[in-house]
Order: sequence, then C-alpha cells, then structure tokens
Amino acid sequence: MKFKITNDVLTVKSDSGSTYTINRTGCSCVGFGWRGKCKHFTEAKEQGWVYKLPLINKFVGFKKTQFIIESRKDAIRQWLKKKRIKVRESIVNKIESIMTAKTSMKEILACVRN
Ligand SMILES: [Zn+2]
Repeated sequence: MKFKITNDVLTVKSDSGSTYTINRTGCSCVGFGWRGKCKHFTEAKEQGWVYKLPLINKFVGFKKTQFIIESRKDAIRQWLKKKRIKVRESIVNKIESIMTAKTSMKEILACVRN
C-alpha cells in the first residue's frame, strides 16, 4: 500500500493496484462505503497520514468534488468486475449516488437488478 499527498488530497494505491482517496473521515473505496472502515483508512491513520491533511477536510464530504466522485465510481466499477457483474455506467452512477457508510449490500444489488 502506497500513500501520497498531492494538493492536500491523500491517495492510496492498494496492493491490487486500485487507487482510492482518503480524507479525515474516511476512504472512497467500496468497503469503507459499506462497513465504515477499511484497511486503507486504518493504515493511513496508523502511519499518521490522515493527520497531515488540513483540518478543513474533516468537514468536506466525499461528494464535494468531481475528483472524489470519479474515485468512488472507479471503486464501484472494480467491485462490479470482481463480482462478474456487467459494468454499465447507469448502474455505476446509481450506486455512487446512494452509497454511504449506511448503505447495505442489498440496496447496492437492487441497483444492479433494476
Ligand atoms: Zn479504503
């Protein structure tokens, strides 16, 4: 796992080659979206990366910037591929719009079916 801060944005390149964005409150990966925790965010905190970010990030949600939205969509595309579900942009957009820490797997899969 490789961490990097560019323009006050912390990104992590996972061992599987995926890139996610981390702020003071969480990570853009699908796992964090579901469980409210993930190895990226845990490790970023343990290594002190999260505390190098400006405090203002604490109050900026993941939905604020196009960059963050794209990161989330990438994560969703990768997840769909892993599940061998055909990646359609309409599905990716729909999942991105509903995905929060409280979104259940059932709700996500409902998006795929509809
Ligand atoms: Zn993560």
